[in-house]
Amino acid sequence: METYSSLLAAIAPQGGETREVRDPATDELIGLAPVQDVAALEAAIDTAAAAQPSWAALGDQARIDYLNRAADAIEANAEALAELLSREQGKPLNGPNARFEVGGCVAWTRTAAATPLPVETIIDDESGRAEMHYRPIGVVGAISPWNWPMMISIWQIAPSLRMGNTVVIKPAETTSLSVLALVHVMNQVLPEGVLNVVAGEGRVVGAALTRSPRIGKIMFTGSTPVGKGIIEASAPNVTRLTLELGGNDAGIVLPDADPAAIAEDLFWGGFINTGQTCAALKRLYVHDSIYDEVVKHLVEYAKNVPMGVGLEEQNVLGPLQNRAQFDIVDRLVKSAKAAGAQVVLGGDPDYDAPGNFYPTTIVTEIDPHNDLVIEEQFGPALPIIRYTDLEDVIGLANELEVGLGSSVWSSDRAKALEVAARLQAGTTWINSHGGLHPMVPFGGAKQSGYGREFGVEGLKAVAEPHVISG
Ligand code: NAD
Repeated sequence: METYSSLLAAIAPQGGETREVRDPATDELIGLAPVQDVAALEAAIDTAAAAQPSWAALGDQARIDYLNRAADAIEANAEALAELLSREQGKPLNGPNARFEVGGCVAWTRTAAATPLPVETIIDDESGRAEMHYRPIGVVGAISPWNWPMMISIWQIAPSLRMGNTVVIKPAETTSLSVLALVHVMNQVLPEGVLNVVAGEGRVVGAALTRSPRIGKIMFTGSTPVGKGIIEASAPNVTRLTLELGGNDAGIVLPDADPAAIAEDLFWGGFINTGQTCAALKRLYVHDSIYDEVVKHLVEYAKNVPMGVGLEEQNVLGPLQNRAQFDIVDRLVKSAKAAGAQVVLGGDPDYDAPGNFYPTTIVTEIDPHNDLVIEEQFGPALPIIRYTDLEDVIGLANELEVGLGSSVWSSDRAKALEVAARLQAGTTWINSHGGLHPMVPFGGAKQSGYGREFGVEGLKAVAEPHVISG
């Protein structure tokens, strides 16, 4: 079983360029991450391409067994992985954070292994017979972000391996160690060459991965602008793409909702992972008749949720993972203040303190077109917008170019469903926001991307459909 120190030692760079990795809560140096180059990427693609035919030839059941053993390995090393994740990403061990994320890696790997995808008989009658088979694509190139670095990498890796592909993954620059450690643990049981990781700059190694004619499918999770670049880079090779891009999820609280009853779920919808979550509640629209009550209950709940250093067991909110994201949140809250919005909680960071802590912030009486509302803040600052007219608020919720998640909050399910049907998003939750399940397809509408992950849809997304007719 690995410890935090043995994990770090196992993934330590062996020469070459490196970058310092600092704990975003304390600024303490925790280690060095490799900054690999395109030659290292090409070597990893060679390895993955060489390993792919025999991995595919093993057959479905053998790959399922390997995935289950990889899940066992993650589970056995969960504490060391969670500690490394906490120190590098900043998220606390407890709450829906580091231990939860490592547990998610186990659950998603097991589900990718357990989900059946048999040959489908499409027609079998006097007109003929046609079957749908799902073949491996080849080598999958995966590119993951820094907010849920292990779990999102697993979302890309596990279904790809299950379907007989091999994988080259490029982690985000600021959370490379987490993914290197995860891959190291999985590779204790997987056959050599099946799962490969190359840590390097996005615009160098990531860009080369997306241009490579030897990559059959790109699984990308990250920002919308980078996603658009990947569409262009991969076009000459007609590379298959799943793009999980940025979001700016709206939540609509209808007048019949119970403010006290929904406060806790509203809070975690917005502030899970300290707001650094793609499908977090990022703009909350509340009906005028209950606006003050919702704000009161939300602030009461929020002000008691402990934020601090990830390794201290009592904390459930942490710092921003990097200073660039801290600066974005800070700029957006300042823009709201300057425009006359009210900061009813937080909003006043200590710029000189160690780490990237931005306090839990709730902003009210804000214009629906303020930057804090229409830009993705990706941090712990929630704008709450007052509305009176349902048609208007549905228009506001739908007016942005992105559409990842959304939510409707009401005591009347039928009414909530009516509103939900009109929201432009990959998922609309009723009386909660952001909960994911490994069997329930997840992905974006509009410029939040295309393709779906998880469950049967997710397996099909990393396979080549092949009809056998006759
Ligand atoms: P980012 O787009 O800056 O980086 C994501 C990854 O892409 C990193 O590994 C990075 O190195 C790489 N990259 C950068 N430039 C590249 C290029 N030219 N070619 C190829 N790869 C390149 O995003 P981020 O800041 O790490 O993540 C935050 C964003 O991700 C937010 O917008 C968030 O909403 C989004 N996100 C979406 C989902 C989802 O499921 N839809 C999940 C998590 C995060």
